[in-house]
Amino acid sequence: MELLKQVIMEKGKVLSEDVLKVDSFLNHQIDPELMKQIGREFADRFKEAGITKVLTIESSGIPPAIMIGLELGVPVVFARKRKSLTLVDDLLTAKVHSFTKKETNEISVSKEYLNEEDIVLVIDDFLANGQAVRGLMEIIKQAKATLTGVGIVIEKGFQAGGDLLREQGVRVESLAIIESLQHNQITFREE
Ligand code: 5GP
Repeated sequence: MELLKQVIMEKGKVLSEDVLKVDSFLNHQIDPELMKQIGREFADRFKEAGITKVLTIESSGIPPAIMIGLELGVPVVFARKRKSLTLVDDLLTAKVHSFTKKETNEISVSKEYLNEEDIVLVIDDFLANGQAVRGLMEIIKQAKATLTGVGIVIEKGFQAGGDLLREQGVRVESLAIIESLQHNQITFREE
């Protein structure tokens, strides 16, 4: 997605050889117009998939996920990383090791919002080693729902997550794939 790549080039900050900071439009301050375009792009790519629900993980997956839900006219569910007083019974859970925070969280979704009739699109802001996506796939499996694909705003192609998922036959659509962050420079994979 050209617009997204332009914004990444203009506003992304290379923190190290494997971490990109995008706080000014995706991870802290949100650019609603860009989120709208992202929602349209994903909705276009997955419009034939019969999606009934969009599933993401708090917090940075939520803004793009909502825009896709809006475009497709389906609800958006986000997995919680912390236990909540109101989220106690009938939970689907999975363990996720966070690439950026270096900690393991148990993520959870209420059984009320995901069931065997659902056709689910998984959305996240970044794809690195694929832990977050795998956690969400585990939750979909427990719900006996169907995974139709994974939509990622920024994939880091030099980390293994995306290619491993594709090798397993999972449809992964990434709007920008970064080939390298070396030498403080952002290079995209040619499509
Ligand atoms: P994975 O689970 O695929 O290893 O990592 C994906 C998760 O880690 C995403 O949900 C995202 O929040 C975070 N993440 C991974 N790499 C980066 C990065 O380079 N920059 C930012 N801002 N977040 C990242």
